[in-house]
Amino acid sequence: MLRTGTLTELRKSVHIKDIGDQMYQLISELYPICRSITGNGFRETLNIIRKYVPLNIHEVPTGTQVFDWTVPKEWNIQDAYIKNSKGEKIIDFRRSNLHVVSYSVPIRKKISFGELREHLFTLPEYPDWIPYRTSYYNENWGFCLSHKQYLELKDEEYEVCIDASLEEGHLTYGEYYLKGQIEDEVLISCHACHPSLCNDNLSGVALVTCLAKYLSSLSLRYSYRFIFVPGTIGSITWLSLNEAQTFKIEHGLVVACVGDSGHATYKKSRQGDAEIDIAVAHILRHSGQDYEIIDFFPYGYDERQFCSPGFNLPVGSLTRTPHGRYPEYHTSADNLDFVRPEYLADSFSKYLAVLDVLEHNKKYLNQNPKCEPQLGKRGLYRAIGGQTDSRSDQLAMLWILNLSDGDYTLLDIAERAGLEFDSVKRIVDVLLQHDLLKECPAYD
Ligand SMILES: [Zn+2]
Repeated sequence: MLRTGTLTELRKSVHIKDIGDQMYQLISELYPICRSITGNGFRETLNIIRKYVPLNIHEVPTGTQVFDWTVPKEWNIQDAYIKNSKGEKIIDFRRSNLHVVSYSVPIRKKISFGELREHLFTLPEYPDWIPYRTSYYNENWGFCLSHKQYLELKDEEYEVCIDASLEEGHLTYGEYYLKGQIEDEVLISCHACHPSLCNDNLSGVALVTCLAKYLSSLSLRYSYRFIFVPGTIGSITWLSLNEAQTFKIEHGLVVACVGDSGHATYKKSRQGDAEIDIAVAHILRHSGQDYEIIDFFPYGYDERQFCSPGFNLPVGSLTRTPHGRYPEYHTSADNLDFVRPEYLADSFSKYLAVLDVLEHNKKYLNQNPKCEPQLGKRGLYRAIGGQTDSRSDQLAMLWILNLSDGDYTLLDIAERAGLEFDSVKRIVDVLLQHDLLKECPAYD
């Protein structure tokens, strides 16, 4: 496929609202699937994403050593329920896959209420919601239910069934590499291991899928690598298998929680002052909306692995309300009502804006560095004038010419002059047409 057009052109031409609807549609399609860190639910999810993006699917065998971790056994589940003494199904996995603790070992037996209670999880503070629980690295079994349901249970004999398998198999992940003009890469990562939960993690999956789909038609400077991995063990596995390639990663973002009504939150990379950190902060500051920027801390999503000291990659995480800061997090209330197309669309446009900064953040050289060039005789006041903000455009022109000495990137100039990157870039294009600027051949 011929790839033409730039990110800037895409941002101008695309109907952001339609993309929000597409993302929501994909979330709805993926929502019913019971995913975990391994197994067929994860594969089924990648196969659906493949309808939009030609993912490479990797299968890593159980037992593979990945740094200090080992790829676990593969977990698959067919069915699960609890029946009361009358034989009525009172908890049914087919009604909600959150009812079963992820990675539960198979079990089928009659059990007293006293023993069953040890394996039940509820949220007394939100009595209508089912919690999401996992037991990946400790072989156990359990059920999650609303506290309301729990209070209705009687002291009688129950039948529990978890028709699951935990066996040698594979860890599956998806990867899509989009080659750009240079080898340097932008890494876009999301975890895709949660069952029916929307903001954490399907919103991230949908955003990364749409980003990959739209970027794949463009002519890009950077190469892009999109990865869909199970949380923690997936990024550790990916880093272990790709360690020799990680030097190419110039910028990275971990995508999650991008569909709720909260404002944007950016968690900086461990480096704290990487280009990605400055670019995201710039876009949020000029968004005209509330936002929050927080320093790196070694808890959260896969940025923990990308920013571990042995890698220390320039990878931050751009979310809306971060994990754990909304009560619906890891409960059945993180559902299709909790995420909305308009918030997904807004997040998507912020990601595009950030990547557009990275794509165009170059250095230029003033071709007339001795005193100011005479702008009037070149018609440059007119070239940009006629717009209501022409005075600020003139000031921007002077800033760009003054700082284009080969030391400053356009983002540096935008930041120092208090200008929006998009305006700086627009004016740079005019100055280039008038041969007053030239791109620095050796960036860095
Ligand atoms: Zn989570």
